[in-house]
Amino acid sequence: MKICIVGAGISGLATAKAILDKNPETEIIIFESSDRVGGKVWTEKTEGGYLCEGGVNGFLDKIPQTLDLCQQAGITALPAEHAAKKRFVYSRGALHKLPEKPWEFFTSDLLTVPGRLRVMYEIFAGGTNNPDESLQEFATRRLGREAFERLIDPMASGVFAGDAEKLSLRSCFPRIHQVEAEYGSLIRGLLKLQSKARSQGSSKQPGPGPGGTLTSFADGMSALTDALASQLGPRIRTATAIQSISRAANRYLIQTNDGSEHECDTLILASPAYTQARMLEDLDSDLASLLMGIPYPPLAVCCFGYQQRHVGKVLDGFGYLVPSTEKRAVLGTLIDSNLFPGRAPQGAVLLRSMIGGARRPELALLPDQQLISQLQTDLRDILGLKADPDFIRIFGHEKAIPQYVVGHAGRLTQIEEKLQAHPGLILTGNAFKGVSLNDCVVNAGKIAAALPL
Ligand SMILES: Cc1cc2nc3c(=O)[nH]c(=O)nc-3n(C[C@H](O)[C@H](O)[C@H](O)COP(=O)(O)OP(=O)(O)OC[C@H]3O[C@@H](n4cnc5c(N)ncnc54)[C@H](O)[C@@H]3O)c2cc1C
Repeated sequence: MKICIVGAGISGLATAKAILDKNPETEIIIFESSDRVGGKVWTEKTEGGYLCEGGVNGFLDKIPQTLDLCQQAGITALPAEHAAKKRFVYSRGALHKLPEKPWEFFTSDLLTVPGRLRVMYEIFAGGTNNPDESLQEFATRRLGREAFERLIDPMASGVFAGDAEKLSLRSCFPRIHQVEAEYGSLIRGLLKLQSKARSQGSSKQPGPGPGGTLTSFADGMSALTDALASQLGPRIRTATAIQSISRAANRYLIQTNDGSEHECDTLILASPAYTQARMLEDLDSDLASLLMGIPYPPLAVCCFGYQQRHVGKVLDGFGYLVPSTEKRAVLGTLIDSNLFPGRAPQGAVLLRSMIGGARRPELALLPDQQLISQLQTDLRDILGLKADPDFIRIFGHEKAIPQYVVGHAGRLTQIEEKLQAHPGLILTGNAFKGVSLNDCVVNAGKIAAALPL
């Protein structure tokens, strides 16, 4: 069987690796339009000694498949410093530490006392007949308006750079949707799951957050995709974009930008959904328009390096997220040099701010100087940084993170129905069933397991 994979981001690379693990004799070619592999995994080292992540910052170490993949790739996973557990939300002109343990919630000043009481009322909050609620509808119904604005809305920015009024709870956070369906309340569900874990003697207690430790590598996230690429070797063709796809005699025929054509029995598209749409337009225009309907708002990531002697200790912890009610330009800022060693030269700190996303896409597309000026205003107001940075690097993502908006689950069903007419065509990548790197790795294993190799 000959397999072609389109896209050498983590989805394409991990899928190729999983297929070869199952059957090392499989013939695979991976086409990548860019001249580098990794896609949204994009680490850059500067001559001045900064290590910047232009895209993916890390992954949570709770999924064994990703840790196995690192081991097979021969690279050592690096858990973030303990400081990464300390996360902040900027609200009403000040930074508030997010509770690390459930009981800290009662003493945290992020929510007012009535806001905290409303969260506790969650146990009695009513259900819904709406099978596909937005994150905002869900959170307001269960936890109240204040918790939505100060906790859930910034979380939607942090994970999806998304708009909580549009994102679908069941598609973005299926586990939370499931807990409500099973236990009728998130608090009741959490207590039951914790007691179950205790009775099974598990050392890991489920908490309100996603769980797991943020993890990367000493050389940044590209260490993983580069290591996978070197194992896959000449199977990868970089700077080769797939333009269109047709079918003849039960095989797929793919045309590249250099005018060459390739035939295969199984075709795995692991590029962003809007690029899959363009490739599939001639083969199935209905399928293409379903794929085109998955929104990808722009996002810019801006790294700022400061001399510590100019700014002092910036903030002890991971960084902060900013609720949309604060009306700031920045979505959030991570203090990368607090998270992993070697991110900034001696005596310097590295910050990483995000701007744009679904709520204010136009900000990500501003000319560099305006974008920097907006972010520096926020750094001055939020962190009190008055000095100028001695290093700035902007990574623009014209189309960044796919948005699982209300209706996403229905769209996936329609896509799956359309795929019935195209045996051997597989669509993957982070546009469908999970946006995180962990999700991409898990999906890669599922694809390989389902293929008759
Ligand atoms: C700024 C940012 C920060 C993020 N941070 C995190 C994080 O910290 N943790 C996390 O888990 N997830 C994070 N994510 C989500 C992340 O995108 C996914 O986890 C994952 O990297 C997506 O991988 P992918 O392979 O599915 O897609 P991509 O990384 O987008 O890879 C798709 C590849 O397809 C190629 N391609 C496109 N068109 C063609 C064509 N016509 N022919 C051939 N090749 C083509 C592209 O060049 C690209 O290399 C972040 C995303 C962004 C944008």
